[in-house]
Order: sequence, then C-alpha cells, then structure tokens
Amino acid sequence: MEFSGIPLKKLRAAFFDFTSCEGCQLQILNHEKNLPDFLSLIEIVNFREISSDKRDDYEIAFIEGAVSRKDQIDRLKDIRKKAKLVVSLGTCACYGGVNAIKNNFSIESMVDEVYKENKPETIPVQKISEIISVDLEIPGCPVSKIELEYIILCLALGSVIEKKKYPVCIECKQNMNHCFIDKGSLCFGAITRAGCDSICVNGGLPCYGCRGPSASVNWMSLKNILIDKGITEEEILEKLSLFNSLNEVIKDEN
Ligand code: SF4
Ligand code: SF4
Ligand code: SF4
Repeated sequence: MEFSGIPLKKLRAAFFDFTSCEGCQLQILNHEKNLPDFLSLIEIVNFREISSDKRDDYEIAFIEGAVSRKDQIDRLKDIRKKAKLVVSLGTCACYGGVNAIKNNFSIESMVDEVYKENKPETIPVQKISEIISVDLEIPGCPVSKIELEYIILCLALGSVIEKKKYPVCIECKQNMNHCFIDKGSLCFGAITRAGCDSICVNGGLPCYGCRGPSASVNWMSLKNILIDKGITEEEILEKLSLFNSLNEVIKDEN
C-alpha cells in the first residue's frame, strides 16, 4: 500500500473507553466520505463499539475517557504494557474533561445525592497521563475527525505530526465569525489551541477551551478584557473550569 509513492504501514490499533460519553469513539466512525481510506490505514483489533471480536496484539492503544474508579487503574496499566504507543483520545483522556467537575465537590456528598443507597465505588477523576506514560495527546470534546485522520496518516507514514500552536481565534477569523467578545460575551478562543476549525463559534456558541491552551497564552490580558466587558470573575472561572483543560493558564495567578 502506498500514499503519494511512499509505502504505508498498516497499524494494528485498539480503542478503549474509560469514564467518558463515548462521543470521541463515535467520531472515529464519522466523516463517512473518508471512512474507507481511513480504515485502510489501520487494522482494528479491539473496538467494543463496532465488534465483539478482540485481540491483544495491538501496536497503538487509543484511550478514551478519564479514570474515576480504582479498577480502571490496573486495566490501564495492562494496556500500557501491551501497546507500543498509547494515545489519549479526547479531552476526558487528556485533561479529565467534564468528569473532573466532580473533583470540586466531596465525593461522598455527590454519590449520596445521585445514587442514594446504590453507591458505586469512585475516586477523584484523573487524566490518563497521571496514571501511565502517554505518547501522544489528541484533545477535543469530541476530537476532530479530520485532525485524527491527519495524525493516523502521519503515524502510518512515519512522518512528524505538526500540532497547531496558534489559538482558535485564527480559525474563527478565517471563518468570518462575529466575535463573541465584541458582542460583550465570554469566549476563550484567544487562549485555546486551534484544530477544531472554531466549530462551536461557527455554530453560534462561544469557545470554552476544550482543546486546552495554545502555545502562547496571555491569560491576564484576556481576563481583563472580559471583565471590562462586564463579565464577572466568578463566571469566567466557572466556565474556564468546564473541561479541566485550561487550569495551567491560571496557575501562575493563584
Ligand atoms: S472528550 Fe467529550 S466527546 Fe469525548 S468522550 Fe469525553 S465528553 Fe465525550
Ligand atoms: S468569537 Fe471567540 S474564537 Fe472567535 S475571534 Fe472572538 S474570542 Fe476568538
Ligand atoms: S471552539 Fe473551543 S470549545 Fe469548541 S471544539 Fe473548538 S476548542 Fe473546543
């Protein structure tokens, strides 16, 4: 098999879900137009959503979701032992994602409130790289299928994966959107890593930063602009914590 005359290596890949909504796994099967080409690059040996057949001879393990139960730790370590390359797939895996909201509350009170007498075992949410070493992180809630196709092609070709360093605002301007901040609303596109083609803003929603920080972030400047627009610090910090992905941009402030 070749791509532009360069030999391609068909990769044996497995997809595993931990604490998540499984939306990132569904993205793998999205973008139907390119699905035959995409699937020609990988041999899927383990993927619960599409087949009950499973093998352990995978080279790449894609991990979706965060860790929120003790038993998941051993399962994760076992996957790490078997895989040559471990990829955190999606914001839950890379940062904890929306699951990490529960870390702001006492676990006992949350479990009591939701499950009453049927209490499950649960631990504070951790991202995958807090438990095992991770070779590659692909953030996004959900991941961008186009970005995933590009990364899989790079892996199959053995070529360097170029990550976008600039912020979502660049893509947003290219898409000719009217800026939320100009309209007096909150948006974190200026400090968030591009790669989603500003999909939320294109659809009429602000960017809440699911892809994590861009390479160069001026948090204090953005925060002052948002406060000048009349947005409260409380609201800014609440929205900033939605995906647990932008914590590092405010750590110097605290
Ligand atoms: S990152 Fe978002 S879409 Fe992906 S599994 Fe987590 S909650 Fe679902
Ligand atoms: S709407 Fe958000 S992403 Fe778009 S230019 Fe304004 S701040 Fe940046
Ligand atoms: S616009 Fe922002 S919140 Fe929406 S997908 Fe892109 S990075 Fe995530």
